[in-house]
Amino acid sequence: MRNEPVKIKNIEHLTHDVLHIVVDKPEDIKFHSGQATEIFIDKEGWRNEGRPFTFICLPEDKYLEFAIKTYPDRKGVTNELLSLKEGDSLILNDVFGAIEYKGKGTFIAGGAGVTPFISIIRNLDSQDSLKGNKLIFANKTQADIILREEFEELLKDDFINILSEENNESYHHGQITAEFIKKHASSLDDYFYVCGPAPMMDAIRDQLSALGVAKEKIVTEEF
Ligand SMILES: Cc1cc2nc3c(=O)[nH]c(=O)nc-3n(C[C@H](O)[C@H](O)[C@H](O)COP(=O)(O)OP(=O)(O)OC[C@H]3O[C@@H](n4cnc5c(N)ncnc54)[C@H](O)[C@@H]3O)c2cc1C
Repeated sequence: MRNEPVKIKNIEHLTHDVLHIVVDKPEDIKFHSGQATEIFIDKEGWRNEGRPFTFICLPEDKYLEFAIKTYPDRKGVTNELLSLKEGDSLILNDVFGAIEYKGKGTFIAGGAGVTPFISIIRNLDSQDSLKGNKLIFANKTQADIILREEFEELLKDDFINILSEENNESYHHGQITAEFIKKHASSLDDYFYVCGPAPMMDAIRDQLSALGVAKEKIVTEEF
């Protein structure tokens, strides 16, 4: 178990309920894009409460970066993160699994489920290999879209947004359906990377199966 305290260099809101947290990087930490670590708050009463969060920076960056959706109602770790400031410490545990890029395809994310795809998409861009990949991003409203401007810049027309609770002429409206996936996916023969809340994951898995996508072409992580 790693158990390493790291100082917060910067903490601010990315959206109304998502925090962007940048921390010092321990010299020996290694991860690949899409991986996560368990984070504890280094504060009396919180050092035994670990929660998984995904690195959104590149593996070679000189700092570690996270995008964390906060749930004040739950009175848990993400609510407590809202009270932290620059100079406070977090404790990082081991790096683990989550999603790994296997080849060209379509990323399908719900809300904070986009976090594993941030580092993967940044990494593909830095290697000039992003072309041909698509991101379908489902949110309730436009205000919930994490890193909208960065994705627009990187992916251009390959960034497809769908909003369930806001009618906005710039975006698709409703829930992701099999027809929606068929219309917007890079190809049904490519990989599908899916990450989001459990009910969304179940629905997308069923839709991909109905579209005849092979199980081994579907890479998933549940949030
Ligand atoms: C591999 C992995 C990587 C992840 N990476 C990220 C990431 O990068 N960014 C991100 O934002 N999220 C990420 N998540 C999700 C994130 O871990 C959770 O949102 C986080 O653990 C919530 O912690 P919490 O202490 O605030 O709330 P919880 O631990 O979920 O809840 C605290 C308490 O609130 C109550 N509660 C739980 N759920 C509900 C509910 N739905 N309604 C009401 N009360 C409830 C329960 O009593 C619970 O004990 C990831 C998850 C996984 C599995």
